[in-house]
Parts: sequence; structure tokens; C-alpha cells
Amino acid sequence: MEIPSALKQLLHYPQNVAIFSHRNPDGDAIGSALAMRHYLEQYGHTVHVLFPSEYPAEFEFLPLAEDILIWDIHTEECKQVLNKKNVFIFLDFNAISRIDKLGEHIKNMPGTRILIDHHLYPDPIADYIFSEPAASSTCELVYRFITDMGDAQKINPTVGKCLYAGIVTDTGSFRHATNSTIFRIVADLIDRGMDDTDVQDKIFNSQKEKNLRLLGHCLANRMEYLPEFRTAFIWLSRKDYEDFEIQRGDTEGIVNYLLTIRDVRLAALIHNQPTIVKLSLRSKGDLDVQEICRTHFSGGGHKNASGAYSHDSLKSTIQKFKDLLPLYKDALLKNN
Ligand code: 5GP
Ligand code: MN
Repeated sequence: MEIPSALKQLLHYPQNVAIFSHRNPDGDAIGSALAMRHYLEQYGHTVHVLFPSEYPAEFEFLPLAEDILIWDIHTEECKQVLNKKNVFIFLDFNAISRIDKLGEHIKNMPGTRILIDHHLYPDPIADYIFSEPAASSTCELVYRFITDMGDAQKINPTVGKCLYAGIVTDTGSFRHATNSTIFRIVADLIDRGMDDTDVQDKIFNSQKEKNLRLLGHCLANRMEYLPEFRTAFIWLSRKDYEDFEIQRGDTEGIVNYLLTIRDVRLAALIHNQPTIVKLSLRSKGDLDVQEICRTHFSGGGHKNASGAYSHDSLKSTIQKFKDLLPLYKDALLKNN
């Protein structure tokens, strides 16, 4: 990527930087934010990472994860820290609504805004926008940002570990959204001392017993398969949330199991979180779930992985989802 010289200049001298990522942060959000922090601190910048809501426990091992400020928990500290900031970096999201109240809070603050992201259709919310929907992950883009700054030597094992956490999770362990560049990047991270086996072990072998019981419950009791639409979905009620003590991150990845059914083209997880109904859509091939989420549920994301929220009841959201399927029948039944 082409980094304007004014931006290079700015980042070559110590600034007061705030790094933001989206609500319900995933591995790419956390990994990219922490990698950027560990990179920028090598220039003497003062850096804070801020998220609207908590991150899943499997990412606690990432260096300085414990230092992340969560608006929902540390609201006053977030406000205090933000008063002093003059550089705002937006990672892994491209619409200000994705950072909830943090977005409202910083809306009118003076400062330089930098956006690095790989979701479709970015809003013009930054002075410098590095938006590449073809990239595997925001971590891929952060790697390229650092190298294009001329700073490859600053990618130490700590930066590498954070970047790899985002790459391996956003590609579903290299099953989708890959490109040749990402394999070269990972090779380079390993050459620079990043222990890939250790990162994978920490992220993927960290489940609690209750997570496996929940998965079993989803597959045995909450899965519906509609072969005529090559669609499968799982729903979870508020009672399921209580019975299985579901917390943030516990439902991550469940929707992907549906894609392992050979004929499935569209998979959905529709779950009644404490305050809203959340939809997670996944697809195989050409079917564009980003369009479905955006058009019918005001959501967004990527072509093969998108999300949205609904303020309707669980029952009517499931019905709305089922009623949409005939509209997409051609795309669903197409062989690709
Ligand atoms: P997930 O289904 O895992 O929550 O999200 C899948 C993808 O869609 C992620 O890249 C996420 O950032 C995006 N996404 C999830 N929910 C929303 C939403 O409500 N609005 C938008 N614009 N994107 C979303
Ligand atoms: Mn991402």
C-alpha cells in the first residue's frame, strides 16, 4: 500500500494514539489492535487500545491484552485517556456505528484519523483510508502497513504473535479468504521468530467443558436443515443463554459447523442475546451474505461472512430469515 509521506512523518515522532476496534471483538480485531500498539510503541508513541465491549477469554494470552480499555467497563478511564489523544486508528471496522458510544464520544474530537480494514463499503470516517476487501484480514493489512512504512525490522515475535492470531482466526485456519500473499506473510512471521503452533494451541485448545456441551446442544437440538434451500441454521433462545451460561465469545465458530454439510450453501446462527437478536451468516461460493445482511437486517461484513442485529423477537427473526430464502433460491441452488 502507498503510505502518504505526511502520514509517515506524523508517525515518525511520538504522538498520543488511540486504537479502536469493533464491538464483540474477534481475533482479527484484537490481534490487529495489539500488533499496532506493539509496533507504534517502538517509536515512542503513547498508545491505548479501546474496545466498546469485552473480548473472548482465548485471546487473554496476547501481550498487553490485559491493558485494553473496555468502554462498557472502564467508561470514565476511556474518557480520560481520550482527552489527550491526537491520533485515532480504526482497525477491522469501517462504519462509526460499529464502535457504539466510543464513536459518539470521539466524533468531534480534533485529531488525525487512520482506518485500516477489509470489510466492504467503507464510510468516509478517516483522513487516511486503507480499505482492501480482498485482504484476508486486517492483520494482513497491518503487516503490510508496517512493511510499507519501511519498518519490517520492527515486526518482532510479539508483533508477529498478535498478527498471526488475527490471520489464523479470520481465515478459519486458512480455509477461506486466503491469497498467496498471506502464506508469504506467515512464512515471514515465522522467520522473524513467531511460534505459530503455540498461538494456535492457545487459541483453539482453550475451550471450557461448557463450550463443548453448548456445541452438542446446538447440533443435536437447535439445528434446522432445509435441503430444498441448501440452508442450515441454529437458533438459541434466552433460556439457552441462561442454561448454558453463555458469555461473549462462547457462540463464536458454531455457525461454521453448518458449512461442513456437503450441500449447504447458506448457514446462519440466530441467537437471542440478552438485549437483541444477533444473526451470523456464512456462505460458500458466490452467495453474497453481505448483501442479505445489509438489505434485510441493516448489517454488513464480507461476502461469505456477515452479521446483523434485529430488534424483533427471536421467533419473528427466524421467520423473516426463512421467508427470505425463496428470494435467493436461484443463488442458493446454483452449483458453485
Ligand atoms: P459475526 O457473524 O462473526 O459476528 O461477523 C461476521 C462479519 O460480519 C465480521 O466481519 C463482522 O465484523 C461483520 N458484522 C457482524 N455484525 C455486523 C453488523 O451488525 N454490522 C456490520 N456492518 N457488520 C457486522
Ligand atoms: Mn477481520
